[in-house]
Amino acid sequence: MTFAYLGLIKPLLRTLPVLGYILPTPVQRQAIPALLAGRDLLMAAQTGSGKTAGFALPVLQRLTLEGSPAAANSVRALVLVPTRELAEQVHGTIRACGMELPLRTAVAYGGVSINPQMMLLRSGIDVLVATPGRLLDLYRQNAVRFDQLQILVLDEADRMLDLGFSRELEELFALLPAQRQTLLCSATFSEEIRQIATGLLRDPLTIEI
Ligand code: AMP
Repeated sequence: MTFAYLGLIKPLLRTLPVLGYILPTPVQRQAIPALLAGRDLLMAAQTGSGKTAGFALPVLQRLTLEGSPAAANSVRALVLVPTRELAEQVHGTIRACGMELPLRTAVAYGGVSINPQMMLLRSGIDVLVATPGRLLDLYRQNAVRFDQLQILVLDEADRMLDLGFSRELEELFALLPAQRQTLLCSATFSEEIRQIATGLLRDPLTIEI
């Protein structure tokens, strides 16, 4: 099965061989068509499965084909991650996958100056990769708004809880529009993760690899 068969648009199909992605991984074969169709997803996939491109490609495609350009300080897709290392890594993959698309991406995490992040957000962002604490700080400083948010991705949700981000996550979820697409990725499924999934996802497709 090829990437073209999964329904990806030409600019993405041109990029994939450049990245060395010739055939979709099992996670990508399941996640890409479901996300392109607008479904919510619960994904039990490990690092190394290709899960990042599995959500990056359909998110980039949907933002290209649907919705309007990001207004000032708005974010159209939000990817929440537990650590700055993962934030950089996920943002790198999203930027690489989107190199042929006219979309703006950004990354924001704590432990570094907030001012450059506030400046970047001013012109509106299509995909923001962020850690929960710094994102809340940016929100409290009116640097980011969620009224245009179409897609929410929680990557490594179990690690976000392990690192003590439950309260920040609850606070953030309450700020997001109810009408959106949501994807939750987690390596493990505790009772708390299941509760979050029940609260956030609508009729999700479950993928276990
Ligand atoms: P991830 O599970 O998202 O951390 O990805 C693991 C590694 O697989 C990363 O280095 C990706 O660049 C790579 N990768 C993702 N999808 C593919 C693919 N379809 N073919 C080859 N490599 C891939």
